[in-house]
Amino acid sequence: MNAEIVSVGTELLLGTTVDTNAAFMGEILAECGLACTHRQTVGDNLDRLTAALRLALSRADVVITIGGLGPTQDDLTRDGIAAALESPLVYDSLVEESIRATFEARGLRWVDSNARQAMRPECGEIIANANGTAPGLVCRKGRKVVLALPGPPREFNPMASGAVKGILASLSGGQVIHSRILRVCGLGESRVEELTLDLMSGSNPSLAPYAKTMEVHLRLTAAAGSVDEAERLIEPLEKQVRERLGWHVYGVDGTTLEAAVIHRLAERGETLSVAESCTGGLLGARLTSVPGSSRVFTGGLIAYTNAVKQSELEVSPEVLAEHTAVSEPVAIEMCLGSVKKFGSDWALSITGVAGPGPDDDGNPEGLVFIGLKGPDSEMVARHQLGKGRENIRTRAAQLALTLLWQKLQ
Ligand code: AMP
Ligand code: MG
Repeated sequence: MNAEIVSVGTELLLGTTVDTNAAFMGEILAECGLACTHRQTVGDNLDRLTAALRLALSRADVVITIGGLGPTQDDLTRDGIAAALESPLVYDSLVEESIRATFEARGLRWVDSNARQAMRPECGEIIANANGTAPGLVCRKGRKVVLALPGPPREFNPMASGAVKGILASLSGGQVIHSRILRVCGLGESRVEELTLDLMSGSNPSLAPYAKTMEVHLRLTAAAGSVDEAERLIEPLEKQVRERLGWHVYGVDGTTLEAAVIHRLAERGETLSVAESCTGGLLGARLTSVPGSSRVFTGGLIAYTNAVKQSELEVSPEVLAEHTAVSEPVAIEMCLGSVKKFGSDWALSITGVAGPGPDDDGNPEGLVFIGLKGPDSEMVARHQLGKGRENIRTRAAQLALTLLWQKLQ
C-alpha cells in the first residue's frame, strides 16, 4: 500500500516555512508500513491544489494533505479534496458547535469565517483537533483514502502521531517499514558504494547510502509484519556490510562519532585530552557533548597563538621558528604537551589554516595537521581540506575523531 503527501501553502514554496510536517509524516508512514512514494508541495491556489490531489489519487492508495484547513480565504484544502474526490462540501453543524465552544472557552470573539471550518466533503469524517479549531478529515471514496491535517505543527504533530497513526496502521494491517542506519567514517560515498554495490540491488531489505560531512550513512530498510521481523531481515545484510567496511562502521542510528570514541575509551579504561588551534574548541565541544564524557575526557586547551603553544603546551620556540605553527612537529609537540598537562592516556591536537587565505607564514588555507599521541606511539596526519573557514574547521574536528577511532580498533 502506498501513500503520497501533499503539502499545501505558498509559504512552503517561497521557503519562508520549512516543511517539517512532511518530514514527520514520512516517519509515521514508515512506522505504519505505508510506502511513501511521492511528495508534492502546492501553493494556496484551488486549481493547482485540485490538480495536485488528482495526480496524487491517480498513483497512491492514501493521500495525506497538510495545511490549508484554517478559516481564511486562502485555506482551500477542503474545497480541493471535494473537487478531486467529486464529493460536494456539506455543512456539519456539530463541527460548528464544537468550534464555537472552543472560542467561548478561550474567551475569543466569534468571527463568521470560522464557519468555513465546519464544511467537509460529503464522504469525509471529522478527526478531532484538541489543539486548535480546524478539525482534520478522513475521506474515503472507493478504494482511496484522503487524510487532511492542519498546518500548525502544534496541531499537526499530535494529530499525526495520534488518531492519524491509528488510521494508517489499520489501513496497512500492522505492517511496518523499519530502518537501521549504519554510520561510516573514513571512507567517501563512492568508495562505500564500490564496496557494497552488489548489496544495493536488494529490495527487502534494501540498502542505500547518504553522504554526510566526512561520513556516510547507510540505511538498511525492511518491510515486515513487525519491527522484530524487520530486524531479522536486516540482520544478515548488516553483517555483510560490516564485514566489508570493517572499522569504518563506527555506530548505529543516532550514535555520533564522538560518542563512539568516548564509549570505546571508557571500555578500555583510558582517558583523552585535546590541544586545539584552528578548531578553537570544536573538538572539545563535540567530545564533551557526550553524556558520561567526564569519565574519559580530562581536559582541553585552545592554544591559538604561538605564545600560548609555547607557554601552555611546551612547544619549543626553535621548532616553531623552523617549521611554523602549521607543521607536523608542532602537531606532535602539542599532543605531547596535552598529555603532560592533562594527565591523559591519549591526546589529539589540531593545527591548521582556517583561512580565508594563507597564514602569515605562507601556509595555504585548508592545510591542517592532526596529531595523535597514544599510550605507546604517536603520529601525525596531514590534510588539505580545501576552502572555507567553517568547512575546514568542521572537517578537521571530524578527521581528528576518525583518526582516534581508527587507532582504537
Ligand atoms: P495552515 O494550516 O495552512 O493555515 O497553516 C498554518 C501555519 O502552519 C502556517 O502559517 C505555517 O507556519 C505552518 N505550516 C503550514 N504547513 C506547514 C508544514 N508543512 N510544515 C511546517 N509548518 C507548516
Ligand atoms: Mg496555509
